[in-house]
Amino acid sequence: MLDAKVSKLLNEQINKEFYSAYLYLMFANHFTDAGLIGFANWYTVQAQEERDHAMLFIKYMQNNEVPITLEALDKPVADTTSHLSVIKEGLKHEQFVTASIYGIYEAAQAAHDHRTVQMLDWFVKEQGEEETNATEQIRKYELFGHDAQGLYLLDKELGTRVYAPPSLVL
Ligand code: MG
Repeated sequence: MLDAKVSKLLNEQINKEFYSAYLYLMFANHFTDAGLIGFANWYTVQAQEERDHAMLFIKYMQNNEVPITLEALDKPVADTTSHLSVIKEGLKHEQFVTASIYGIYEAAQAAHDHRTVQMLDWFVKEQGEEETNATEQIRKYELFGHDAQGLYLLDKELGTRVYAPPSLVL
């Protein structure tokens, strides 16, 4: 069994990862409605990755015989007044998730739970990548999204993203 506080935070993280998947599906729907199928593809792949993150936390808890409680998911909330506002919500959300992962990390360190710290190292790195990707999305949209030709090419590029399973195996 793991430390009680660490276990509680891990359980909460499952919900946050599934919520992330839900949020990115909402983004994908926003772009599908706008006819930007490349953007929609990018966020659909992002949603699949978030589902994988949730499954990794579930697997880790199962491996350590920590009971799991699946809580209700909140309705996703984001500013969808423009394409750029949606994209910016992605970075804001990833920063929130990074803070959440750091919270578990610090609790695990305080409990001398080196196993959880080591597992979370992957997520710390992953969050760095998520924030970089989200920042890149904003920069690209700001640079190229304001005219039809730029938006067309950007949509085409984002349409090439393919889903890949996570590199962390538990
Ligand atoms: Mg995630």
